[in-house]
Amino acid sequence: MRTPIIAGNWKLNKTVSEAVDLTSELAKLVDNITDVELVVAPVFTALSNVYNVINTSNIQLAAQDLYWEDSGAFTGEVSAPMLKDVGCDYVIIGHSERRQYFGETNETVNQKVKAALSHDLKPIICVGELLKEREAGKTEAVIDDHVKGGIVDLTESEMESCVIAYEPVWAIGTGKTATPDQAQEVHSFIRDILTNCYSENLSSQIRIQYGGSVKPENAAELMSQQDVDGALVGGASLDAQSFAEIVIQSR
Ligand code: PEP
Repeated sequence: MRTPIIAGNWKLNKTVSEAVDLTSELAKLVDNITDVELVVAPVFTALSNVYNVINTSNIQLAAQDLYWEDSGAFTGEVSAPMLKDVGCDYVIIGHSERRQYFGETNETVNQKVKAALSHDLKPIICVGELLKEREAGKTEAVIDDHVKGGIVDLTESEMESCVIAYEPVWAIGTGKTATPDQAQEVHSFIRDILTNCYSENLSSQIRIQYGGSVKPENAAELMSQQDVDGALVGGASLDAQSFAEIVIQSR
């Protein structure tokens, strides 16, 4: 039995005080939820303050990225021990926006995943195809490449700490959602990859989130799919009410 995990990716939004207000409102709305893992991913500058709000709550903290070195001459970067230090449990790695705008590759994703794991941070590894790749019938090839490329050399026990987020790029921030069948098809394919790379036992334990224009109106149907174990939510997570509604719909 996999506990669903719903994470809010706030992207480049919210000042510290706005992030604190959003978190406080959300914490009240979801304080009775015990059967879904809840995660919020604010910008780096708000992590510490948001942690102070959720410290004793059922909401966990994620960063939106990290660098693989612990410290040194890497201007502008933030490392795994630093994220741990401000209370992060999770870190999003390989989001399509990082792949698209910041040169993230499978190799850098893999380095970041290993750095996160070595500091007891749980990676949320994002994978997903572009519209032109889907239309060219390349969805499975892209997903295979992203999943296998991100988890190179991970042991079975390291893999157990990872979450995979399937986010078709054409559905992110576009209002276009994958149909529940389209999502299920890719999630099941990801589980097959994990079975082949590790074991049936391992693959049956890994949570696979869906991401791409998830909102209260479509969450229940997506989450009802056998291999969909939660959601990575962008836009709708910036409003406490709609994020809480998605959480409630996913149970
Ligand atoms: C995301 O950024 O991970 C995402 C899925 O965004 P949205 O929900 O806005 O499509």
